[in-house]
Amino acid sequence: MNKLTVGSSAEKKIKEGVRLLGSKDYPDLNKDNQLVYLYSRSNTFLGTAYLSKQNKGIGWLIADQEIKLDRDFFETLFQRSKGKRKNLAKSDTTTAYRLFNQEGDSFGGLSIDRYGDFALFTWYNTFVYSIKEIIIEAFQQIYPEFVGAYEKVRFPQAGHQSAHLYGKEAPAYFDVLENGVSYSVFLNDGLMTGIFLDQRYVRDRLVNGLALGKRLLNLFSYTAAFSVAAAMGGAVSTTSVDLARRSKELSYRHFQANQLDMSSHQLVVMDVFDYLKYAKRHDLSYEIVVIDPPSFARNKKQTFSVLKDYHRLIHQVLDILSPDGMIIASANTSNMPVSQFKKELEKGFGSHKHTYIDLQQLPNDFAVNEKDESSNYLKVFTIKV
Ligand code: SAH
Repeated sequence: MNKLTVGSSAEKKIKEGVRLLGSKDYPDLNKDNQLVYLYSRSNTFLGTAYLSKQNKGIGWLIADQEIKLDRDFFETLFQRSKGKRKNLAKSDTTTAYRLFNQEGDSFGGLSIDRYGDFALFTWYNTFVYSIKEIIIEAFQQIYPEFVGAYEKVRFPQAGHQSAHLYGKEAPAYFDVLENGVSYSVFLNDGLMTGIFLDQRYVRDRLVNGLALGKRLLNLFSYTAAFSVAAAMGGAVSTTSVDLARRSKELSYRHFQANQLDMSSHQLVVMDVFDYLKYAKRHDLSYEIVVIDPPSFARNKKQTFSVLKDYHRLIHQVLDILSPDGMIIASANTSNMPVSQFKKELEKGFGSHKHTYIDLQQLPNDFAVNEKDESSNYLKVFTIKV
């Protein structure tokens, strides 16, 4: 077995409980795609890790002791992750959620979601991908209830983003439930599925009273899942704005899945900043505005970054918010701590009076590493203005 001696900064992070091996801490590393035993400079054993470059980091610490990556190892992991989600598994009203979440379930680089009777594996690097057969076998042993499975591949080398893995094939589109609301999903088209499961808590709240009797504007709406949740929760109207043309058809599918009449629900294909100007010019106003931008976006005219430009969104939204309105401000970034997000929001509010109602983060099926703030990447403030 390969032994890897780590520097003092890496050793400190490991001892603090961080599981991601950051590239800065391993500058001269010439190994990739293998299991290694980590040792400190003073030769104390630190844990078992695997090396594999991915979007963030160069590998993951996966155990405090020496381990072998065999089927038994994964069966034990899956048994534990299944135990944590017993309540969700019993639910008749929620049939889509995360079954296994990376380092929060003790194995970074892998996530598995439930979409009704199907499982969806996401491989984040070439190493997990290379051992996928044993992972799938172990999974089938612990979760025989799934009739079929698909994969998403989040690194370029595999040459594809999506594929069928085993068992039955799912229909091109099918409905799943979340808190009693239907969503139309698809498992075999690019990296998306039609819904971001990590926003469940926010949708729950919109279904269960927050949106009742309100006019809601949903910015960066993708498939308009927040709007559908609000509509099912009694919103009098919703307006969903996204620049991607395809989002309109997919949004319509979610509404249709719930037999919602579209007469008070509008799907707008437009740049959010243009829409905000348009709405101001036409004296439109909303009682709830949801803002959920991508962490980074570029269009013909400008770039947008959550880290630097969020305040502009708040500033412009204030112009079209009804008195006593509410903003739901979401940021999906692991490299921006909660405190920094709040600062950015404050910059947008300026001297406008506002009250933070609360901060919602990842739902409990998206298990996080409590010792590493960056693993709880989702931050959603509900703010009364
Ligand atoms: N709120 C959505 C997820 C948003 S994903 C949900 O809950 O499902 C980010 C979306 O922002 C993408 O659909 C993308 O098309 C859209 N987008 C990016 N830049 C945009 C812009 N300038 N104006 C409008 N939409 C934009």
